[in-house]
Amino acid sequence: MKLFTFPGGIHPSGKKELTCHQAVKVMPPPKMVVIPLLQHTGAICEPLVQKGDKVKKGQKIGDSNSLITAPVHASLSGVVTDIRSYPHPLGNKVRSIIIESDGLDQWAEDIKRDDNYFRLLPQEVRDKLRDKGLVGLGGAAFPTSVKLTPPADKNIDVIIINGCECEPYLTCDHRLMLDNPREIVEGLKIIMKLLDVGKGIIAIEDNKPEAIKLLSATVKMEPNIEVVAVKTKYPQGAEKQLIKALLKKEIPSGKLPFEVGVVVDNVGTAVAIYEALRDNRPLIERIITVTGSGIKEPQNVKVRIGTLFSDVIAFCGGLQGDIAKVIMGGPMMGIAQYLLDVPVIKGTSGILALTAQEVKIVQAGPCIRCSKCIESCPMNLTPYLYGLYGRRQEYEAMGKHNVADCIECGVCAYGCPARIPLVQYAKWAKMEIAQARKKKIEDGKIEKKDNR
Ligand code: SF4
Ligand code: SF4
Repeated sequence: MKLFTFPGGIHPSGKKELTCHQAVKVMPPPKMVVIPLLQHTGAICEPLVQKGDKVKKGQKIGDSNSLITAPVHASLSGVVTDIRSYPHPLGNKVRSIIIESDGLDQWAEDIKRDDNYFRLLPQEVRDKLRDKGLVGLGGAAFPTSVKLTPPADKNIDVIIINGCECEPYLTCDHRLMLDNPREIVEGLKIIMKLLDVGKGIIAIEDNKPEAIKLLSATVKMEPNIEVVAVKTKYPQGAEKQLIKALLKKEIPSGKLPFEVGVVVDNVGTAVAIYEALRDNRPLIERIITVTGSGIKEPQNVKVRIGTLFSDVIAFCGGLQGDIAKVIMGGPMMGIAQYLLDVPVIKGTSGILALTAQEVKIVQAGPCIRCSKCIESCPMNLTPYLYGLYGRRQEYEAMGKHNVADCIECGVCAYGCPARIPLVQYAKWAKMEIAQARKKKIEDGKIEKKDNR
């Protein structure tokens, strides 16, 4: 079989066997949920409810007038006990709506199945995806209705559904492909119809042969959709790398996939799109991988958005061993957690608990100019310079060396023999450059559209 891939990248140990062979378990609704008003890329929502209000499952409880945003919904029926700043898994505090369950788990009245969803007009589809709070479930949590509204002058000719799941440990997308292949294909067909696109590709890494087989059988009668196996390599699932691997197209620096006529959505997003249209169901739950040697019973779990990590971990038997690190997401791009009482958000793909044996804390040394980081960087960047300039806080120099194109995949730091935290330096530089640019706009030194 011909396998598609991209230049650079690495082969970290997968550790997927901990969870990939078990069926998804549905966690019973928790006693309370914490729904942050910001779970997406874009503007924070304003609450639509007050303390003391009764809410039903699926009811919209937060929204914003901004263009780039996604409303949030109650994931339980019960009572709003508070609206306040609450610890968030991205590391800060975010205004959140706290709901205590009434034990009834009742749906809001307007959540009714619509088997005629395929007749909806394009704007009706976009309105519904927005109204149901859909965001990309693969990582950045970008609002789906915005992503599926490319500029009028851009022609989209391919939709890619991303089933790579290249992050080590995570298997929630793998399980979804095994359990819901038809829903993934229906979601893809909705996107193809919405954007009037004649070609759909479902891309899956070759370490998931059963998923490739099952989805290939599911699309047998769909002449415009093909399932393509891609090489198992990290970060194969990053949008730019996937497009390069499948279509040999390069996305220009600082641009998005629609520049080359492509839209990429994750398999989980495809299923959520289908459920939003056919079942009128808002995004109030998702599958996450709870894993690592620090978890007693690693597994994939379907959980309500807003469930506390501590409750999810307890459902998976609790923690074990000498826990060194708990991460939201995978080990390469995930975010370390300092509290376990943070809620699952729409972008939570996993909870990973690593023990001291797995996490070796080593002191960074000087760069030995081995060039490993350059050879492996999938974006053709020069990461060793980020270490060099980053130590001196010379962020402008990092900008000149295209740090803005860094996708924060962690490949450079993973292979660096000197253990230099190259990704951290890249992240800081991007933040500093963004802040400096904001200040220049405020001071009237540059215009908003000016890219300097
Ligand atoms: S510089 Fe950025 S894109 Fe390149 S390997 Fe490092 S983290 Fe990945
Ligand atoms: S991999 Fe590390 S030691 Fe080697 S060149 Fe890059 S920064 Fe220097």
